[in-house]
Amino acid sequence: MQTNRGGLNSSSLPFLEEILLKTFAELDLPKPIQRALAEENYEIPTPIQAQTIPAAIDGRDVLGCAQTGTGKTAAFALPILDYLYHQNRKPRKNHPSALILAPTRELAIQIGSSLKTYGRYAGLKQTLVYGGVGQGNQVKAMDQGVHILTATPGRLLDLMNQGVINLSQLEIFVLDEADRMMDMGFLPDLKRIISQLPQRRQSLFFSATLAPNIVQLAKTLLHKPISVNVTPESRSVDRIQQRVLFVEKSDKQKTLELILQDGAVERAIVFTRTKRMANMVATRLGRAGVKSAAIHGNKSQNARQRALDAFRKSHLRVLVATDVAARGIDIDGVTHVVNYDLPNEPESYVHRIGRTGRAGADGVAISFCTSDDRSDLIAIEKLIEQNVPVDPEYPMPARSASTSNRKPSSGSRRRRPPQRSAPRGAKPSGGTNSGRSRQRRGGSGGSSRSNSGRG
Ligand code: AMP
Repeated sequence: MQTNRGGLNSSSLPFLEEILLKTFAELDLPKPIQRALAEENYEIPTPIQAQTIPAAIDGRDVLGCAQTGTGKTAAFALPILDYLYHQNRKPRKNHPSALILAPTRELAIQIGSSLKTYGRYAGLKQTLVYGGVGQGNQVKAMDQGVHILTATPGRLLDLMNQGVINLSQLEIFVLDEADRMMDMGFLPDLKRIISQLPQRRQSLFFSATLAPNIVQLAKTLLHKPISVNVTPESRSVDRIQQRVLFVEKSDKQKTLELILQDGAVERAIVFTRTKRMANMVATRLGRAGVKSAAIHGNKSQNARQRALDAFRKSHLRVLVATDVAARGIDIDGVTHVVNYDLPNEPESYVHRIGRTGRAGADGVAISFCTSDDRSDLIAIEKLIEQNVPVDPEYPMPARSASTSNRKPSSGSRRRRPPQRSAPRGAKPSGGTNSGRSRQRRGGSGGSSRSNSGRG
């Protein structure tokens, strides 16, 4: 059995029976892209890839409802690489041909690194533009010419205003994590950017949720899109083993340290509500001999990136993060998520625990709940339409959680669970897919994306 670089094995990908595209080989992608995918051991497309790539290669607009971890990056990256490779054009100074807009620097960096991986033999120029760092290198890269630009909204607008970036020749526009963009208050920036896009273009739109404001935004951007919905939020949590521990506030740290004694916790993200608490937890973990770092909005971009890299390379076992800092983090092999503090927003719970159990892998999410947090837990259970099981026997040091039967330490006294609401009926699962045609665009030469015809 082959595995990709992150250890995901192809046979564990979900919903394979629903998909039409069975292998990447069927797509007839350019050889250099096929070679890169083969080296990554990508053989079988994930459901979002199977359902969007053929249509996107045909030039259709796409509305994709999918979370990070489903393979959505390749779902938009491969059609972009395929198109630009066939165009066989020199990169244009200050005028990108494809723009991918992401809500956070971390996500932009990850997308850039995926493009680099999939496109490493394709000879296309790509660059990143995001805030929190000097703009000198970004300006230089734009001046040298790029095919593909991945950007966050604020810095992109800055550079557009300075005349360093001009979108008038854009052919493909990707909006990634549209829901987070809205959460983070980027709508006014987005509108300004969208007003500069040429009418004739292809747009690919991805969001983890399809709330009415997201659908409204999608309508302004997309022209006769195919719509694909692979991971309704309440289903993605099914892959994750969840449990709640009722603890006193003063016992949280000891309980966390006990959990981390379990060798099964190979790589964990611990969520706190505040930056101060993130620092405190990381410092105390350090004193207890656990290699960890805190990431939050008060840390410099460099410090955050350093911590992420160290975590990725397993130099750190634990990352203590606030919600904002953790947005868009995609790190393979996160075995556990610990909600040291429950989030106020139930949706954040789903985003947080989605950091584990990526792309078919198993994950464990443990949430601490104090007597003050009970209404938050109830709201979460309502959203995910299930009760989070209470495990009074957990945590057990140095044993696997599911097989352990030792008593909890005095540091993790249990409280009675709160009154729970009955779960509502399960939502139907996704997998919609319409109007897909397998006709391929003509090969090389200046044909522009032909779907929109709005210009
Ligand atoms: P994404 O949702 O794009 O962040 O992808 C999640 C993870 O799945 C990344 O580590 C990708 O490298 C991996 N991945 C994406 N597509 C495939 C595929 N078809 N086969 C194997 N691994 C994949």
